[in-house]
Amino acid sequence: MCGIVGAVAQRDVYPILLEGLRILEYRGYDSAGVAVVGPDQQLQQVRRMGKVAELQQAIHAAPPAGGIGIAHTRWATHGVPSEANAHPHQSGERVALVHNGIIENHAELRRELEQAGYRFASETDTEVIVHAIHRELTQGLSLVDAVKVTVSRLHGAYAIAVIDTRHPEQMVVARAGSPLVIGLGLGENFVASDQLALLPVTRRFIFLEEGDIAQVTRSEVVIWDRQGQVVTRPVTESELDHEAADKGPYRHHMQKEIFEQPRAIADTLEGRLIDDHPAPGLLGPNADALLRDIRHVQIVACGTSYHAGLVARYWIEELAGLPCQVEIASEYRYRKTVVPPQALFVTISQSGETADTLAALRKAKEAGFAATLAICNVPGSSLVRESDCVLMTRAGAEIGVASTKAFTTQLVALLLLTLNLARQQGLPADQLSQLVTALKHLPSTVEQVLELDGAIERLAADFADKDHTLFLGRGTQYPVALEGALKLKEISYIHAEAYPAGELKHGPLALVDAHMPVVAVAPNDELTEKLQSNLEEVKARGGRLYLFVAEKRLFDSEGTTVLAMPEVHPVLAPVVYTVPLQLLSYHVAVIR
Ligand code: GLU
Repeated sequence: MCGIVGAVAQRDVYPILLEGLRILEYRGYDSAGVAVVGPDQQLQQVRRMGKVAELQQAIHAAPPAGGIGIAHTRWATHGVPSEANAHPHQSGERVALVHNGIIENHAELRRELEQAGYRFASETDTEVIVHAIHRELTQGLSLVDAVKVTVSRLHGAYAIAVIDTRHPEQMVVARAGSPLVIGLGLGENFVASDQLALLPVTRRFIFLEEGDIAQVTRSEVVIWDRQGQVVTRPVTESELDHEAADKGPYRHHMQKEIFEQPRAIADTLEGRLIDDHPAPGLLGPNADALLRDIRHVQIVACGTSYHAGLVARYWIEELAGLPCQVEIASEYRYRKTVVPPQALFVTISQSGETADTLAALRKAKEAGFAATLAICNVPGSSLVRESDCVLMTRAGAEIGVASTKAFTTQLVALLLLTLNLARQQGLPADQLSQLVTALKHLPSTVEQVLELDGAIERLAADFADKDHTLFLGRGTQYPVALEGALKLKEISYIHAEAYPAGELKHGPLALVDAHMPVVAVAPNDELTEKLQSNLEEVKARGGRLYLFVAEKRLFDSEGTTVLAMPEVHPVLAPVVYTVPLQLLSYHVAVIR
């Protein structure tokens, strides 16, 4: 799913489109393109493989005049990355369209349109949409109606923006399963798949909801819901800063976001701890009543957010004494599940638009959970709108593809949730107060970990030529190990696996040798001793160990590199021990 930008204005729109694409570059893409309707009602289209900078160069050589246009960065799903497959796609030199997502029934629609005489210029699933709209237009339908009829036939996920040379005053957009936002200007309006792309031109946004279709002109936005009713959607003022998309003094967004964690965690905590307990109303106005009788917690998420959920299970069972299950959203949504009575359904997602998590939430709402809660970073996102209670992580814009501050702030939000539940379940006041004090110090503890950056950079050199790495942890550090392995795979392209340390002897030990570095995270808790013996097993196989531990002296020995971590309350250790693993992946990726 990649980027969409569109604009309708009195001025030439191509600079707005190009700047928007440039901001969305961080998402990764293989090609980019722009289409603008000129004053002579001709479509002017430029597409390029590779970087937005190349598109920019081509466009600056012959700038397309015109006040209405659409633009796209493509991440190929159907058809190789190529100029012909890049968006926009056109039909009849009249209609141009950009699309994020996947059309599942494209083959059937393609056959039908080919029979109707349409010639296809690309291998994409997208191209069927533009020809289908064209066909409806030639039947005499308005652009909005042509889009309505067409999307009613699409299966899959889409956000689309369409322009028609015969109606150069309007753009029509639609969404289902892929996000789309309308940006409001003065005498000009914009659309994008992510509000970040429009921050240079506006801060006022309307977030389209599932199934919405909108007609956007310079002066007006009209929205129809899935049932075809005209609806008004709230206008929100974005709190995001235009600067959010800049790297500042850092070399990469990921590095910047790792270093932003003390600030981000402080923001997550801001106003949410009163004296020695979590603030009442933490989860929204109705939450306390809804959560009072909760007896069971079900967490559902994907990727990094799933790892945050795994950590939370330890917390919720240990501190609140409530049974807690955690499941990957793409599994949960498709299987038959049993809902225990008085159960709380918790979703975790940075964007609030993760398709599988959203689908799982919708399933849960039908299935009879007592309440739903979203832990999310993007206000106004689908997950936030559709949940009973919300706990915003307030991490700020996360541009880096590998999630860092979004994860640690999710952990902090989940701990706030746990403390809230634990207090209701009667966690002794002194324990609660100790945890609250530790939480208040968390930003400065993370600050201390960041001082290990230089040491971790040196250590990263050892990993740069390896093909495999093993991560070990016990207890809450097991999900931290999982997250460390995911980061290394995602950003350094090194195969990495994580195991609970106690599982080592049941198979994976056979893989350990001098070519397989083993990373372990070991705060000082009751599991340290057990971990020590697991690590002996690794050393006996000639494995090279890299340890992030509370007490260096317990582990110092031949063949072992030990980095001492700052002291931290054991419950908070997962947040703190995640940070060196993020830095490790980052530096290995930079070296490679
Ligand atoms: N499925 C479309 C394609 O392959 C859109 C991909 C995207 O979301 O960028 O062209």
